[in-house]
Amino acid sequence: MRFLLKDGRLTFQKSFSKDSQRISEIPDIPQPPLNPNFPFDPKLQLFLTGKQLLLDDLPFSLAEIQAHYDNGYITCRKGIEYDGKKLLCARCGNQEPHWFATFPCARCGETCRYCRHCLMMGRISECTPLIGWNGPVPDTGSPQNILDWQGALSEGQLEASNRVTEAILQEKEWLIWAVCGAGKTEVLFAGIEAGIAAGKRICIATPRTDVVLELTPRIRAAFPKIEVASLYGGSQDRHTYAPLTIATTHQLLRFYHAFDALILDEVDAFPYTVEESLQYAAVQARKPESAIVYLTATPNVKWQKECLSGKRAFTVIPARFHRHPLPVPEFVWCGNWQKQLQQNKLPTNLLKWIQKRLEVGKQALVFFPHIPLMEKALHILRKFVPNIEAVHAEDPERKEKVLRMRSKEIALLLTTTILERGVTFPNIDVAVVGAEDDIFSESALVQIAGRAGRSKDFPDGVVTFFHYGKTEAMVSAQRQIVSMNKEGVKRKLIDL
Ligand SMILES: [Zn+2]
Ligand SMILES: [Zn+2]
Repeated sequence: MRFLLKDGRLTFQKSFSKDSQRISEIPDIPQPPLNPNFPFDPKLQLFLTGKQLLLDDLPFSLAEIQAHYDNGYITCRKGIEYDGKKLLCARCGNQEPHWFATFPCARCGETCRYCRHCLMMGRISECTPLIGWNGPVPDTGSPQNILDWQGALSEGQLEASNRVTEAILQEKEWLIWAVCGAGKTEVLFAGIEAGIAAGKRICIATPRTDVVLELTPRIRAAFPKIEVASLYGGSQDRHTYAPLTIATTHQLLRFYHAFDALILDEVDAFPYTVEESLQYAAVQARKPESAIVYLTATPNVKWQKECLSGKRAFTVIPARFHRHPLPVPEFVWCGNWQKQLQQNKLPTNLLKWIQKRLEVGKQALVFFPHIPLMEKALHILRKFVPNIEAVHAEDPERKEKVLRMRSKEIALLLTTTILERGVTFPNIDVAVVGAEDDIFSESALVQIAGRAGRSKDFPDGVVTFFHYGKTEAMVSAQRQIVSMNKEGVKRKLIDL
C-alpha cells in the first residue's frame, strides 16, 4: 500500500503514483478530527473497535475505509517503525534484526522489510498500515442479571474475589496466587460482573488453547446473557465484538488499547514466559488506564520475592476448595535411574511403588523428564500389566489417552511435563522419576504435586519425587507447599 499525503490527510493509493509514500516514510501520520455527523458503518465499528488489523483482514472496500479515515473514525499506525537505526514491529514488538527479512513487494513496488516473527498472523511490512477504530464504542447494553451462578465461594476464594472486583473497578494491578485446586475461575465471577455492569470490556487471556477451550463453556454458563468471544488459532469468533473475551495470549496480537481489564491466567506457563512478543501483546491490548489481574498457582521466583518484600500487590488462596491440605511431596533417592533404564531395568524402589498401586488398583501419573527413557520404562512396565500408556506433547493420541485415563481404562499413565497442569483425575498418586532434571523447575514440581488429591471425595494422594540427587527446585517446591498448608491452617481454611 502507498499513501499520498496532501492537505493534512492521507489518501490510500492503489497505484504507485508520483509523490506517493509508504506509511513508514511519513513522519507524522495525520488524524482527521471526528465528524459527528458522518454516518459511520456499525459493522465496521464492531469489527475494528479495540483492534489493530491489516487491510487484508477487513472485508470492507478501500473507499469505505478512506471515508471513515477522512471523517476521523479510523486510525492508521505504522506496522513497522524505523528510527534510522532499528526496526520495530508495532504488532509483536520484535526488534531483533534476524527476525526481519526483505522481499520485492508488489504492494509498494519497493524492496520492503517485513517482520517474520508474527508472520503467521499476516505479513506486516514497511508499507503496511495497522488499522484501528477511533469512533464511539459499540453499545452492547448490559442486562439486568449479568451473572447467573449459584455456587458458593470458600472463605479464601471470597477474599480473593473481593480483591479482583476492587482491582477491576479501580484499574489496579493485582496477583492472585491460588494453590492448585483452590478454584480460581470462580474468584473472577464477581469482578467480571461488576466490570461489565460498569460498562467495561474485559478479557481473560491464557497461554494455552486447552485452557481457553475449558474455560469458555464455564464462563458462558455463568454469564448466559453476555456475549462471550472465544479466541484461539482457528476459532470462529475472531471478529466478534464482545464485552467479555477469552483468548490465547497469541490472539492478543490483534488487539490494541481494547480492554479495561485484562485477566492473565497461568502467567507462568509456556509460551508466555519465554516469548516476549506475548508479553508485549498483553501490554498493547490493554487500555492505557486499565486493570490487570494475574492468576497463578506458581509465580516465578522474582514475583515471589516481590510479593514477600511488599513490592507486588497480591492475595494468596493457600488452601483448596475442599479444605484439605495439599499433598506434600516425599523425596526418594533412586540411584542412577538413567543407567538402569539403559540396561532395561527400573530402580527397585520405583518398581515397588508402581507395583503397589497396580495391586490395589489405584491409578497413578508417573512423570519423566525425557521421551526416550519414558518409552523404555513403558516397555518394561507393560510386562506387568498391558493397560499402561505413555503420553507426550506431540502424541497424536494425547487427548484420547487422557480421556481413557479418566474413564479408568488406563491403570498407569507415564507422561512428560505436558500433563503438569490443566488435567484433573479424581483419585491418583503421582511420581516424578528423575526429579533432579532441569526441566523440573520449582513451579513445574508444584504443579505436578498439585495433580494429587484434587477431588473432595479423594482429597489425599501420595506424591513421590524419585531422584538421583536433591535439587534446589525440589526443596523449594516442597517448602512452598508446606508453607501454603501452614498458612491455610493459620487462616482456618483447612480442617484438621
Ligand atoms: Zn511494501
Ligand atoms: Zn511482528
